[in-house]
Amino acid sequence: MRRKLVVGNWKMYGSVAGNDSLLKALGAGVGQGADVAVCVPFPYLYQAQALLSGSAVAWGAQDVSAQGQGAFTGEVSVAMLADFACSYVLIGHSERRTLHAEDDALVVAKVKAALAGGVCPVICVGETLAERDAGQTAAVVVRQLDAVLRGCGVEALDKAVLAYEPVWAIGTGRTASPEQAQEVHALLRGRVATADAEVAAKLRILYGGSVKAANAQALFAQPDIDGGLVGGASLVADEFLAIIAAV
Ligand code: PEP
Repeated sequence: MRRKLVVGNWKMYGSVAGNDSLLKALGAGVGQGADVAVCVPFPYLYQAQALLSGSAVAWGAQDVSAQGQGAFTGEVSVAMLADFACSYVLIGHSERRTLHAEDDALVVAKVKAALAGGVCPVICVGETLAERDAGQTAAVVVRQLDAVLRGCGVEALDKAVLAYEPVWAIGTGRTASPEQAQEVHALLRGRVATADAEVAAKLRILYGGSVKAANAQALFAQPDIDGGLVGGASLVADEFLAIIAAV
């Protein structure tokens, strides 16, 4: 049995004052029914660690440098994330791939860096609307997954989480139907199974893209959907707690 995981992605939102009530509500409201984490902007890692330590909520970051240390202005290393006891780091989020031109090779390098530093990578894959409309969904997500399998080895997925996030569903209010999402999740798991069936059976594959309390239960009930990567709805304590309760 794979334990469900719900990860909040705060994106570039938050403030010290606002985070305080959100983190406290999550720390108090999350039980042991599923694994839960929030990936916060870098400056708030200290606050997340301070307010969530001892709770059932883990924390992490939204990106990491592929480099260990050095003259890389603006970058944050995995050792720095580990300094703040981060459990997870998002890698290859579509906003990084699109807005910061991150390609499959950089995603592979970042996954390697995260694993070497002991922080679990949440590796994001997903197709754009144009790619879906052109019938390229399978080809795109398999290409993104294969880059990781080739570059890091299937054993990397033993210590990682995969997230399927159709780009057209992120922040748009438009969610993939449970059947659409399940189809891609099954495809991804099947692809990993061709390399290692045991790793594939254990791998948690999250769905992301306008998950909210109203649709979480139907999505999480699918056999290959092991939880969610939640953006906007993770910024509202009651909504995020309701999504977690749907597990
Ligand atoms: C995300 O940021 O990964 C995401 C899925 O966002 P939203 O839930 O807002 O669509």
